[in-house]
Amino acid sequence: MGDYHVHLHPHVPRPDSPPPGVYPEDYVDAFVETALSRGATEVGFTEHLHRFVDFEPAVAGFWNVGPRADLTEHSRTYYYDDLNLRLDRYVAAVLGARDRGLPVRLGMEVDFFPAHLEKMTAVLRQYPFDYLIGSVHWIDAWSVDHPAVAYEFERRGVRRAYEDYFGLVADLAESGLVQVLAHPDVVKKFGHRCPEEPVDLYRKVVDAARRGGVAMEVSSAGLRYPVGEPYPSPALLRMSHQAGIPITLASDAHYPDQAADQHMELVRYARAAGYRHQLAFRVGGAAHLVALPDPDAAAPTEPTSSEAGR
Ligand SMILES: [Zn+2]
Ligand SMILES: [Zn+2]
Repeated sequence: MGDYHVHLHPHVPRPDSPPPGVYPEDYVDAFVETALSRGATEVGFTEHLHRFVDFEPAVAGFWNVGPRADLTEHSRTYYYDDLNLRLDRYVAAVLGARDRGLPVRLGMEVDFFPAHLEKMTAVLRQYPFDYLIGSVHWIDAWSVDHPAVAYEFERRGVRRAYEDYFGLVADLAESGLVQVLAHPDVVKKFGHRCPEEPVDLYRKVVDAARRGGVAMEVSSAGLRYPVGEPYPSPALLRMSHQAGIPITLASDAHYPDQAADQHMELVRYARAAGYRHQLAFRVGGAAHLVALPDPDAAAPTEPTSSEAGR
């Protein structure tokens, strides 16, 4: 049972964060130790594709689309500020942890840049990833989950933002690019909600996920942001379960102390939507279902005598 969405480098370093692109062994190990202490049994590392210089020739310029110069400029600046990792070092760090006997998997959080898929895939093929998760972080030039440009929700309208976002998630699900849809409704991150829950958009995503054969990620990251709810929402997760779509569990940790954050709460959340299994990935990429534990099964039950006394 894994935490299949973990980053090794934060966007905002802390005093104890290593410099970008540097992977001290004890720092990598700290993520795994914390995750194991919280009930996860594997850690899948999934660094952001857009942070690796190796992908720059494939994706740079993705922000040059749409009529909004402010969004284009924000994304261009953000991209280059965060462009400070190298694929060979990242892969070596994760494979090194595996060689030390740690239960880790090599993954990547792949941004969905629809116009750049062919070139992205050519780079991805050069490394032995066990699995890939896919994320919609950008709607054209708009960095939809970045607080500095959250004003775009007002300009565009919340419902329209959701339509644009879930349209891309559905395309991602059927793209063949990834095995998992990461934080499937991250568009709610800052608490922007449609007047009515957009089940019509959920339906499109669920149908696309079924056709595309991808899993839905259940992530505790939403609990750390203003929305205060895991991704995906209970309704989207129930619909996914009814459609037979598998799940992974995830923290989206960017610091060691976030590894497998709220892991057992996520297990409860998934079980409440009907799930009894999660997807796991073997080294080399084969996916298989493993049972979700019942975190409450071992809880002491009321003695029969006190029951009888009521
Ligand atoms: Zn993400
Ligand atoms: Zn992430």
